[in-house]
Amino acid sequence: MYSDASGRQLALEKEYMFNDADSPMDSAESQDAEPPSRLSPAPSSHNFNTLENQSACDPGNWKWQIANRLRSVEQISQFLRKQTLPEIDKVIAKFPMAITPYYASLIRRPDISDPVFAMAVPQPRELIDPLFLCDDPLSEDEDMPVPGMVHRYRDRVLLIATTMCSMYCRHCTRKRIAGTRESSITAQRMRQVIEYLRVHPEVSDVIVSGGDPLTMSDGSIEMVLSSLRSVPSVQVIRIGTRVPVVLPMRITDNLVNMLKKYHPLWINTHFNHPNEITPQAKEALAKLADAGIPLGNQTVLLAGVNDDARVIEQLCRGLIQMRVRPYYLYQCDLVRGVEHFRTSVRKGMEIMEYLRGRVSGIAIPTFVVDAPHGGGKIPVLPNYIVSMSPSHTVLRNYQGLMVNYPEPCVQQTPVTESTSQSGVWELASGKAAFVSPAKNHRIKRREKVTADKNTAYLFEL
Ligand code: SF4
Repeated sequence: MYSDASGRQLALEKEYMFNDADSPMDSAESQDAEPPSRLSPAPSSHNFNTLENQSACDPGNWKWQIANRLRSVEQISQFLRKQTLPEIDKVIAKFPMAITPYYASLIRRPDISDPVFAMAVPQPRELIDPLFLCDDPLSEDEDMPVPGMVHRYRDRVLLIATTMCSMYCRHCTRKRIAGTRESSITAQRMRQVIEYLRVHPEVSDVIVSGGDPLTMSDGSIEMVLSSLRSVPSVQVIRIGTRVPVVLPMRITDNLVNMLKKYHPLWINTHFNHPNEITPQAKEALAKLADAGIPLGNQTVLLAGVNDDARVIEQLCRGLIQMRVRPYYLYQCDLVRGVEHFRTSVRKGMEIMEYLRGRVSGIAIPTFVVDAPHGGGKIPVLPNYIVSMSPSHTVLRNYQGLMVNYPEPCVQQTPVTESTSQSGVWELASGKAAFVSPAKNHRIKRREKVTADKNTAYLFEL
């Protein structure tokens, strides 16, 4: 919908974000100041090690982290001790950069072979601009009855509460918004949202997103949450945030104590790689989980970062250990500036095929393509239905074992053996119960267990 050069400008002109002239939720702000550098230039001193030697240095403080984000070519070059970062000044001019010192410290190699580097440091490849990419691939702007609030599905809305993030992910779907102007929702805009929700009682679920809403002050977040809770039909509030990944020290006791007043409240975070799972992230997530906040995770499949089944397996195993349920694995959106991160849909299918049977179901996300043109999330699954007849559905499992599932209309007990002659037709007609691959360890184990007479005694205790 937007032309290349003017796209971001047009988005701002639509004012779906926040007008400086509006009062910025005054009462909350007066109690709880925003991070110090929120609208001010980043300081010139930025190196994590250097800053640790300064008297005012406080890397464990989230406001210090935001004040000391890496924002310029000079800062990132100095931090990485790398002089040649070609053309990234042009990229930053188009898509802003900000990296918290904490997240930058997770970079192990200063090049794109490092997943954290790839997600944080601008690349000239962001300027690749094929025709099929656009600024707003999900057509969110077209589904905004109130500026900054997307109403697509009947029962839920998404509220863009801020345009600020502590770190600007290079793969962000909302590159048209994130960081173009760091501001948060005003009291006036929030009132418009509440008015809309009051006359739309079918909306029971509000997703507070951005930008990253947890970069707002506690007071501003509470203003948003309490306003939403004043609408009787709003049942569930969800917060989408990457803070536990890029700024875990933001999860303070004060924040958690405030959040838990607004249950049922869910948080979805955004881990993409096992290298992001650190002791600090674990501590932050433990605080949230202990406060009774259900935690989910949305991962974006990114070429060169996590497009490997073993990486996703390790990530998902790490997530459930932190009480975070892997929720979605997203196919990368068709957003301008992220072409180099896109993988084939086939790659996602391959990963899903790999996970099933290898890890517990609670560790398996749903692979989705968020459809262009506002089509919404479409789950994409390997095909486990092999065939269907009026009496039987033939299914396969992750090992290639095929079984028949008798439909309710089947009166006879199906045969239970498999024969070497069996095939899909025998299954679909109920003549065989299963067809197993020649080397199926589980079937062999079951045969051994069945043959072991001692097993029977277990149930006679
Ligand atoms: S934190 Fe979220 S909104 Fe912000 S840049 Fe990253 S992906 Fe985009």
